Amino acid sequence: MEKVKVLIIGSGPAGYTAAIYASRAALSPVLYEGPEAGGQLTSTTLIENFPGFAEGVDANELMAAMRAQAVNLGADVRSGIITKADLSKRPFKIVIEDGSELLAETVIIATGASAKYLGLPSESKFKGMGVSACATCDGFFYRKKVVAVVGGGDTACSEAVYLSTLCNKVYMIVRRDEFRASKATQQQVFDRENIEILWNCNTLEVLGDENGVNGVRLYHNKEDREFELPIDGFFLAIGHHPNVELVKEWIELDENGYIKTKGASSLTNVEGVFAAGDVQDPRYRQAITAAGSGCKAALDAEKFLISQK
Ligand code: NDP
Repeated sequence: MEKVKVLIIGSGPAGYTAAIYASRAALSPVLYEGPEAGGQLTSTTLIENFPGFAEGVDANELMAAMRAQAVNLGADVRSGIITKADLSKRPFKIVIEDGSELLAETVIIATGASAKYLGLPSESKFKGMGVSACATCDGFFYRKKVVAVVGGGDTACSEAVYLSTLCNKVYMIVRRDEFRASKATQQQVFDRENIEILWNCNTLEVLGDENGVNGVRLYHNKEDREFELPIDGFFLAIGHHPNVELVKEWIELDENGYIKTKGASSLTNVEGVFAAGDVQDPRYRQAITAAGSGCKAALDAEKFLISQK
């Protein structure tokens, strides 16, 4: 069976940075990209706050560059999904979706987080038919149309601004009477004439027919009234949940389901298993902090392997 010193699960900034560092430490890391190669950033457009890019950088280009850097330094980057990880004893037995297996001396979990949905039956019914959790992936299909974005955080505001450049009209459905987003991002929303903010509103039902979404039924929680809006697209931007399904049997999680790491390190409760990026970070969740924690995980894995010699 194939044996690897460092197995990295996930291909966002955390995974690739871990691969870059582990490669430079001559640990011949193997990285599995998982279901969303490049991670969450690939569903956004311009990144203005990743250091080193005076004019900002396209998110997909940034991820492609991180991947290329890892590969050039010797990382074995593989497409594919890991379906099982037995973290009960070392070396850890890992099963890939094609049924193949490998043994890993250390594992770096960098599986990130995924978009949350409201959980309405009508929302699942129209998923892919007008309901989307990624404006930058699907916005293109709604050019000159009317869409709604649910949420009041940085993601919702950025996605609403992005959609407002494509669509005739963008509604924001915000459950409170204020945004959670940073002031700068809020201002971008306020500056767009074709964004209308529906404060204190909750979604009751996504409406549609065999052609997909054609409206939404909302509840105004201050005025205690229901109303309907005709829309063509319904975008969720209400946050994310950490992707821990693969490892939650073995790895200690916090009350919100994020992997617990020890102090400022990437160490988990299982010796030889490290966590990096959004899967262990409910607080900062930035590309740059994820990259930094990928670096820490690779250094921690290296130190651990040296201690085992
Ligand atoms: P957040 O958790 O920050 O915001 C989620 C938003 O969705 C909140 O407005 C929340 O409302 C609302 N919400 C949550 N659940 C529901 C629900 N069931 N129904 C209606 N509304 C709901 O998530 P984001 O994805 O926006 O951001 C995550 C992190 O990533 C943040 O730290 C953010 O700063 C960061 N980020 C940074 C960016 C950047 O720097 N360029 C870009 C995008 C994100 P409420 O406020 O009432 O809880």
